[in-house]
Order: sequence, then structure tokens, then C-alpha cells
Amino acid sequence: MTARVLDGRAVAKEVYAEVAKAVSERAARGGPRPKLAAVLVGDDPASAQYVELKQRNARSVGIESEDHRLPASTTTEELLAMVERLNRDESVSGILIQQPAPKQIDMRQIVFALDPVKDVDGFHPINAGLVALGLPGGVEPCTPAGIVLLLERSGVAIEGANAVVVGRSNLVGKPVALLMLRRNATVTLCHTRTKDLASHTRRADILVAAAGRAHLITKEMVKPGAAVVDVSTNWVGGRQVGDLGPGVDEVAGWLTPNPGGVGPMTRAMLIKNTYEAEVRRRPV
Ligand code: NAP
Repeated sequence: MTARVLDGRAVAKEVYAEVAKAVSERAARGGPRPKLAAVLVGDDPASAQYVELKQRNARSVGIESEDHRLPASTTTEELLAMVERLNRDESVSGILIQQPAPKQIDMRQIVFALDPVKDVDGFHPINAGLVALGLPGGVEPCTPAGIVLLLERSGVAIEGANAVVVGRSNLVGKPVALLMLRRNATVTLCHTRTKDLASHTRRADILVAAAGRAHLITKEMVKPGAAVVDVSTNWVGGRQVGDLGPGVDEVAGWLTPNPGGVGPMTRAMLIKNTYEAEVRRRPV
């Protein structure tokens, strides 16, 4: 078997086109344009590149973006003051605080201070709580929401599937498990204390690998025909690889490229969340 591609770049393109259409229709009805405020603390070149890419994605669909650069020496209090200012700014629909922030910053305080309606990353506990409870109105975090949309748009049935997630972080594993549970998958969440990981992964119709361990998932651990989502970004010999060992593509029925699978979906969901944040705050 050679796996079909779960093409994150192609589905992300669809999402951008849908948001661009919605933004322009809203503008035609006289609605204000959504605006993404991006905050970058410090001068890490990779983080700066990510922020620029996200802003470019925003502008490409007609969402305005503004840039806030703060020095690496910024304190938690100084960043809190910036967040409070952006919370109050009527023109700002969504606030993105690029992570990782310098060590002296208490990110928990920062995330708790965000206006939940402007929390386009879906990190605020109110949003995480609404998603966990399966209640409407919560902002879904970008990577998990992107994974689920990629599966749905590719025609992979989530309802009734045995979904196995390897990794239980608050960023990826836990919320993707909740989003699939909400769509009626039977979900197993694995982590470093899981006994006999392979016995779980081999039962997976949908396998989400988010452990951040290169080559953790060997082809013997994959059920023939399974949809396999490789979330991780590990760097081996200067090259980005995920968690999958060689030959998984011969066993899986569906597979994300890495890169080119989950990463583009994550950025597309940030843009979708920014548009939806504006609609929620100021319906037109
Ligand atoms: P994390 O916070 O380090 O969590 C990793 C999880 O994997 C933990 O729950 C850990 O279990 C589990 N784990 C690690 N080794 C394992 C093993 N040998 N067997 C079973 N479980 C194991 O990482 P994260 O933030 O969730 O991110 C995961 C990966 O996705 C990283 O490579 C990250 O760079 C990538 N990522 C990609 C995107 C994207 O857009 N493409 C977005 C976000 C993250 P314990 O809880 O027991 O320690």
C-alpha cells in the first residue's frame, strides 16, 4: 500500500480562499476589517520569521496586521501592559503572542490576561474549558483544529474511528483528543507512561503522532490503511522530520507529508480564528 497524501498545503489554501471571501463580503456589508496584532518579544530569527509568515498569511486574505516588537529584556509586567492595551483597542480582533517568549516572562499570567475573545491561539483557560466541555463559543487551538479539518476535508471518517493520539500536551495531544471525541471517535491518549505503546497504535484507524521523538512510530506499529498524522517537528541532521520511521507510507492508507502537512494547517487556522474572533465581537 502506498499512502494517499493528507495535503495540508492544499487544504490550507482552501481555508485561505474561504476566509478571503468572507472578509470581502463582510467589508461589502460595511463591516470593519479584522486585524491581527502580533507581539514578538526578543530577536530570535526563527520566531521573527514565523511572525512575518503569519502576518503575510493574514494580509493575503484581507486581514490587517500590526507588528509589536519588544526587547528580549521585557518583563512580565511590561508584556502584561501591552496585552491590556491590545485588549482595549477596538480595532484589534485577535492577539498573537509568539512563543517561546524569553524565560523571565511568566506566560501563564500573559495568557490568563488575554481577552478570551481575542485569544486566536485558543490558549486561554476559558477557551480550553469550553472546548473540553464540548460547548460552543470556545476558540479551538490552531494545531488540533487544523488536524481535524485536514482529516475531514480529505474524506477520513472520524465518527466511530479508533483514534490514538501519542502525546498529551495542552498544546497538541490533549485538545486534538477532545476535538476527535467531540466528533464521536473512540479516543486513546498515550504518553511516556503508556505500557506497550504499539498495542495501542496498532488498533488506530487514525493515528496522531505528536511526541516530538524522531522514528518513534515504526511501520510495525501502524494498522494497514490507517490515516496517520505526523505532527512533530524534529530536526535531524539539519532536516525537519516527524515521529515516523521508514516504511510507514507503505502501510498507512493516508499520511501527512512532513513538512507540508500539519504546519500549513496550523497557520491557516490562526487566520480563520482571527476572522471568527472579529465576527464574534462585532457581528455585521
Ligand atoms: P511536548 O509538550 O514535548 O509533548 C510531547 C508529548 O509526547 C508528551 O505528552 C509526552 O509524554 C509524549 N511523549 C514523548 N515521548 C514519548 C514516547 N516515547 N512515547 C509516548 N509518548 C511520548 O510537545 P508538543 O508541544 O505537544 O509538540 C509535539 C511535537 O509537535 C513537537 O515536535 C512540536 O514541535 C510539534 N508541533 C508542531 C506543530 C505544527 O504546527 N506542525 C505545532 C505544535 C507542535 P509525557 O506527557 O508523559 O511527557
